[in-house]
Amino acid sequence: MNNFSKLGLSAGVVEVLDQMGFENPTPVQQQAIPMLLENNPTDFIGLAQTGTGKTAAFGLPLIELIDVDNRATQALIMAPTRELGQQTAAQLKEFTKNNKKLNVEVVYGGANISNQIKALKKPTQIIVATPGRLLDLIKRKAVSLTNVKYVVLDEADEMLNMGFKEDIDDILSHTLEDRVTWLFSATMPKEIRRIIKKYMDAPLEVAINAEQKSNTDITHQYVVTKGSNKVSALRRFMDLQPEMRAILFCRTKRETQQIADDLGNLGYGVEALHGDLSQAQRDAVMKRFKTRAMQMLVATDVAARGIDVNDLTHVMHHQLPDQLESYTHRSGRTGRAGKKGISLAFINPREGRRITELEKRIKVTFQKVEVPSFEELKASRISNWANLILNTEVDEQANEILYSLHGKFAHLSENDLLKRLITTQLDNLLIQGGNEGDLNELQGGRNRDSDNGNRRDRRDRGERRESNFDGGGNNRYFINIGTIDGMTIPDFVHYVSDTAGIKRGDVGDISMQKTSTFFDVDSDAAKGFEEKFSGLEIEGRSIRVNRDDEGPKRSSRGGNGGGSSYKGGGRKRSGGRGDSRGPKRDYRGSRGGSSRGGRR
Ligand code: AMP
Repeated sequence: MNNFSKLGLSAGVVEVLDQMGFENPTPVQQQAIPMLLENNPTDFIGLAQTGTGKTAAFGLPLIELIDVDNRATQALIMAPTRELGQQTAAQLKEFTKNNKKLNVEVVYGGANISNQIKALKKPTQIIVATPGRLLDLIKRKAVSLTNVKYVVLDEADEMLNMGFKEDIDDILSHTLEDRVTWLFSATMPKEIRRIIKKYMDAPLEVAINAEQKSNTDITHQYVVTKGSNKVSALRRFMDLQPEMRAILFCRTKRETQQIADDLGNLGYGVEALHGDLSQAQRDAVMKRFKTRAMQMLVATDVAARGIDVNDLTHVMHHQLPDQLESYTHRSGRTGRAGKKGISLAFINPREGRRITELEKRIKVTFQKVEVPSFEELKASRISNWANLILNTEVDEQANEILYSLHGKFAHLSENDLLKRLITTQLDNLLIQGGNEGDLNELQGGRNRDSDNGNRRDRRDRGERRESNFDGGGNNRYFINIGTIDGMTIPDFVHYVSDTAGIKRGDVGDISMQKTSTFFDVDSDAAKGFEEKFSGLEIEGRSIRVNRDDEGPKRSSRGGNGGGSSYKGGGRKRSGGRGDSRGPKRDYRGSRGGSSRGGRR
């Protein structure tokens, strides 16, 4: 038996719910539906956020209470955004699909008003509307609210946040004195209390404890990292969890676009959603996100309002919102429909107090988590790569290519070949950046002692930085080798580290140009560095290395004098200018012609 039948709904409606796969009412539906049906007419407050099933909680009683033989508009549902309005109308239309006499229309701004006026000429018992457009339609006499008995203010706190306060007052003044008001809101700020006092009479109330819901379905986490390292830290989380589907919230449109561009240029499936995009562009972005053509949406709070995506694994906060209440709206986008989700905030060391404040305000407990280390990232990438190899079906072309290469690898043992393949993967990691070292910071204002402990523990466990490029203790050099020599960044790292007898991790921040390259060497490893290159030649040209502390730095996008173009293709192993087929070692300039040979 469908459990909705116990709530006082008619058989026809329960049948439709059954067809839609709605079998068990959610807590807000369980409480609100009988309450609204039995106490009709009554004012009502539902404290519940999106994802709790609130649309059906008011929508189902509404369609039961509407007089379908009366052609006048009897119910008005106000929504803050076009997206929410459309979703609500779509659900109501689905609920009433077997009832041809009941008509639901949705009107919103940013769309052709004449089409909406035309649609409203049909008898429309339920109108779903955004406030601005509704007022416009009232002024044009396309809508009459004089018979409206039910007004639903959906996501009332959002409507106020978006500045619809006066519009709501104005609209309500066009409705009957004895209409009832059902108000849904995720939070209860002062302004909402004012609306309740002004327009409602002894309202019944259902509170779906958002905090409890958050506690069970959403895990709240934060990491402490420098503002300038937030995107790098984010990448590590994304890299370690390729199945992640997320929204990253940012505070400004510019930052939203910048982060989406930076990540996109690094090859991540990420797009921006903000108010500077046209509606058509926004729709296209949402379509790509919903069809999983991309993994992460970078959005402002305003742009993300009302978007309906139920299966997010993560909500991330590039910064915490200015108004802490918005945190509830943001995080409530994950952990929906019974699924678990993570809400992860990137905070800088001075923002610890805001986490404590949030914990008090919305009564959740935050877990402090660490930005994954480069070591973890490396292990995960190599493991993913190994799995990819295991799961790859051999392409027919591979046979031909192998045949054409016949003998090329014959002198290598299987083990040696594998090690070289793994090394190329490690090279790729280096090229893609992400080896900035430990991205965790000590936190001010909260748990300082335990943070110190964490940091000390890491050091005590002997975890070392993968790279020394954390901003200090490096010498910058110039060398007269560049892309013209067929050199790639990994080639370069190998070449420099092998020639100078230093570790690969000691070479970094490489800015490669056509005929020259600037790079950093850890100052501890740089003793006698320049001399190691003296007397070496490349293509008959003497290699020259100098200190150049002013030399250009790698671009912030993680590329290096070629950025992501080094990523996939064109990994030329050149024997010198113009020869892209030479064995890898050949470019290594020869010290009097003698230094060719394997890297160790
Ligand atoms: P809402 O909070 O109204 O935005 O609903 C969130 C999502 O849950 C919507 O996609 C609904 O279609 C779905 N939903 C609501 N109630 C139920 C239910 N009782 N059973 C299954 N799905 C539901």
